[in-house]
Amino acid sequence: MRSHWQKQVIVLLCLGRVSANMQQLILPALLASFWTLCTGAGDWCYQSQFSCDHQCNAPDKWNHAHSDCEGKYQSPINIVTRKTSKDERLTPFQFDNYQQTFRGTIKNNGHSVQVGVPHLSTVSDGGLPTSYKAVQFHLHWGDNGGPGSEHTIDGEQYPMELHIVHMKHHYTDLITALSDPEGVAVLGFFYERSNSANRKYDPIINALQSIKATNGNTSLIPMSLAQLIPAEQNLTTYYRYKGSLTTPGCTEAVIWTLFENPIPLSMAQLRVFSELKFHDEKQMVGTFRPVQPLNGRQVFRSGGAVILASSVLLMAAIATALGLSQPN
Ligand SMILES: [Zn+2]
Repeated sequence: MRSHWQKQVIVLLCLGRVSANMQQLILPALLASFWTLCTGAGDWCYQSQFSCDHQCNAPDKWNHAHSDCEGKYQSPINIVTRKTSKDERLTPFQFDNYQQTFRGTIKNNGHSVQVGVPHLSTVSDGGLPTSYKAVQFHLHWGDNGGPGSEHTIDGEQYPMELHIVHMKHHYTDLITALSDPEGVAVLGFFYERSNSANRKYDPIINALQSIKATNGNTSLIPMSLAQLIPAEQNLTTYYRYKGSLTTPGCTEAVIWTLFENPIPLSMAQLRVFSELKFHDEKQMVGTFRPVQPLNGRQVFRSGGAVILASSVLLMAAIATALGLSQPN
């Protein structure tokens, strides 16, 4: 624990009332006290939770208690689309039992909202080595509809990101699956602001009112995974790379898929997530880890979208140039 004088110094530094010379003297002692505070606790937090009053383990210190968080193949990442390489093996996914309705429980776990799902829905193909069954889903978001996704595309951060976590079909728990370098497959979906509300999200959004406090949980009305994501025909364009969990322990056991087509939600719907509370009663906002270095990893893309979009534009340009497009 920090001594009384250390607390006073921290307060003074926060208030900017210490001279530069004093700071030089105090800083080493202060760093030592941060070290003690931040290594033992293991109470990780997001950058948005860190303040002078609450010096928790922000993302740059996650490695103190969880060494995998400084691994070479961490997530999330920024995807630079012109550097992705097209991979013909990245075929459309086969979704099984994604339409199946279930009565889930939604919980505020102090870092996010999470819904456990019965292990009935599975994904296969899509370049995956085997079939994977859904275990849980959760979300990452910003402040009142502001930037909040974990992955970014060409530097763009979307307002929210959905992670449907799957494990290889033969495992029975996530802990075991995480000891296999390809044990977990996460399907990631971005959100975009739309003018109208997405009624398929009513079960989730209505339930948030009841779980504002950390550890709050409530049962959901019957719903399916399919109703949360775009229609299957709009899920053929995606990015693929190998990475990690984006929260401690940051285990590098994840085959990542990020779908190009975002899910629409209205601004009002996005804002409801910011009404949730962290354990210290503060607004649960900015629940994303900053992007991590690629360290030489290749990001692949499925056959389609990026190339298709540019070839459509190219064809239109050629048609215009040749005077083929008729005004009407
Ligand atoms: Zn996640």
